[in-house]
Amino acid sequence: MLLADAREAIVTTCQELSRTGLVVGTAGNVSVRAGDLVAVSPSGLRYADLAPELVGVHRLDGTAVDAPLAPSSELPLHLGIYAARPECGAVVHTHSPAATALSALADEVPAVHYYVAMFGGPVRVCRYATYGTDELAANAVEALRDRTGCLLGSHGAVTIGPDLATAQDKSVYLEWLCDVYLRASAAGSPRLLPAAELDAVAAKLAGYGQQRQ
Ligand SMILES: [Zn+2]
Repeated sequence: MLLADAREAIVTTCQELSRTGLVVGTAGNVSVRAGDLVAVSPSGLRYADLAPELVGVHRLDGTAVDAPLAPSSELPLHLGIYAARPECGAVVHTHSPAATALSALADEVPAVHYYVAMFGGPVRVCRYATYGTDELAANAVEALRDRTGCLLGSHGAVTIGPDLATAQDKSVYLEWLCDVYLRASAAGSPRLLPAAELDAVAAKLAGYGQQRQ
């Protein structure tokens, strides 16, 4: 099977996103790029029924290569991001509750916690556009400039990474960050971290964790 590993990883990720409540029903979509091919979750299928062979493979221009079902309606969003961000190897789009709530309220997720450094700085909320449109894809690409995550206005969240594990992890951190901001701003006016502190944290995060020898 073409891109077998990527298609299996997409199934695992979609089911994990569903199990942990980052998506409800058939919402959300996930893709992985390998060379000039993109594997993307199909449209409107319950994640419990998803299987690797049902994950479609398309070219970067959207042409189907091996896709038994219609692709996610947000295929233009995924392809637009890959076109603009050559370093990007995976895209995760969710309708996670805190991120979606905030996407209807704010213009950005400010530096309420140092985790915003993980995304390159305060996370932007892009202008609303109808789901599945090229306009939404363009708005998201703009909001993702110098960032690895953004919110889609009155819609949900997008995270990107060099691989699917990274993009998925970021979707969890972004949801947590949005939840913290909603709680803090519901209780008062949260203190925000200065840009210089975010730069220091970004440098620290770059060396954080288990480094490969
Ligand atoms: Zn969506």
